[in-house]
Amino acid sequence: MKKLFVKTYGCQMNAYDSAKMADLLAPLGYAQTDAPDGADMVILNTCHIREKAAEKVYSELGRLRTLKAEKAKAGGQMLLAVAGCVAQAEGAEIVARQPAVDLVVGPQSYHRLPEMIARAAREHGHVLETDFPALEKFDSLPAPMESGISAFLTVQEGCDKFCTFCVVPYTRGSEESRSPDAILREARQLAEKGAREIVLLGQNVNAYNGEDWSLARLCDAIAGIEGIKRIRYTTSHPRDMGDDLIAAHGENPKLMPYLHLPVQSGSDTVLEAMNRQHTSDDYRRLIERIRKSRPDIALTSDFIVGFPGESDADFEATLRLIDGIGYATAFSFKYSKRPGTPASTMRKQIPEDVKVARLDALQKLLLKQQYAFDDSQIGKVVPVLFEKRARDQHQLMGRTPYLQPVHVHGDVSLLGQVADVKIEKRTANSLHGALLQERRA
Ligand code: SAM
Ligand code: SF4
Repeated sequence: MKKLFVKTYGCQMNAYDSAKMADLLAPLGYAQTDAPDGADMVILNTCHIREKAAEKVYSELGRLRTLKAEKAKAGGQMLLAVAGCVAQAEGAEIVARQPAVDLVVGPQSYHRLPEMIARAAREHGHVLETDFPALEKFDSLPAPMESGISAFLTVQEGCDKFCTFCVVPYTRGSEESRSPDAILREARQLAEKGAREIVLLGQNVNAYNGEDWSLARLCDAIAGIEGIKRIRYTTSHPRDMGDDLIAAHGENPKLMPYLHLPVQSGSDTVLEAMNRQHTSDDYRRLIERIRKSRPDIALTSDFIVGFPGESDADFEATLRLIDGIGYATAFSFKYSKRPGTPASTMRKQIPEDVKVARLDALQKLLLKQQYAFDDSQIGKVVPVLFEKRARDQHQLMGRTPYLQPVHVHGDVSLLGQVADVKIEKRTANSLHGALLQERRA
């Protein structure tokens, strides 16, 4: 058995890809380990979305070079691979900056890893693969070898939206949807391996259009798979929120009342400069329609502060939008200049101290809303899907329909089951409650 260490940065799609890389390498004798020391192969599955994320990779590579040298001294070999979006964006530059790297593989070509490893052994040099062979990758991936209670399933990749701040269209390529057949097969395989919740993934997941199926139709078909109790999807774009998907939130009982619908900014001037192609009022109206279909839906979003040209008034418009909508939780970032994107050369870049102050104000407001939402659950009885043992071994961790983590005292036989829990209190990152044993599903 050879030891494989995979470190994942960034989004859920990278987490999905990392699991697939491990599955691909298992037939070659690689078994996953949880530390890089002494590993025969290390893969860094990287993220390029913000500068900090990309820079972390180079400092990690510096540490790995030392481990690799130690292994070589002891007569062994450590293959060092960089996968993901930094690999796609920087390609050969990675090897120039860190010659200890053996393999560089983009997010659309990692199915070729086994042959790349063979080539590296044959040619004793660096091997690079950063093609976009469209959907060839998915056809070459093995069936999942195992599954958690909640499982990711990538249904759509890439992006044609070209928001002016974002590298995704360049690193992940254009929008491509997998066929419904392939997705349903994988969902059934995951259910057989123990998945009770499927999280459908895509950079623009609600733009899904495989063989002209919509995402709503796909969710209906997945709801029919034995064992699957819950369905979620992420990340969506406001422009792709179709009528049938909105209706599905009211009609498909397995589709959870939770929607991550990033708006980025509440200022129409900034939204236009970002090329989001909708106004803040378009977004407000959309939320109104979604809430009509599913009044209790938990909403989340992404926000960028300090986009080039963002004035105090623009920023206040974002705070107003947040105030008006009321989010269950949200992600927020300081604008980060990405090479090759239109926003990186825009005039009126915002100074760091202004970005820091705006992020701080925005996060305070979002946290207040998050606590208010979590507190609104106290005293209620909610169905919780139990996913794993909590760190305190006598407790289980599960999630409400709104994705909030809940800790309860309970038996491991509850894992994979949905049971009613009375919510009693909130701590900083979690809800706590007690089981009502009467109803299990
Ligand atoms: N496709 C999704 C969408 O349109 O909302 C999100 C994709 S992106 C992986 C996740 C988030 O990263 C974005 O919603 C945005 O808020 C943030 N992001 C992307 N580029 C960024 C940049 N240059 N600086 C700061 N945040 C950025
Ligand atoms: Fe990036 Fe915009 Fe595409 Fe989302 S929609 S991945 S933010 S370009």
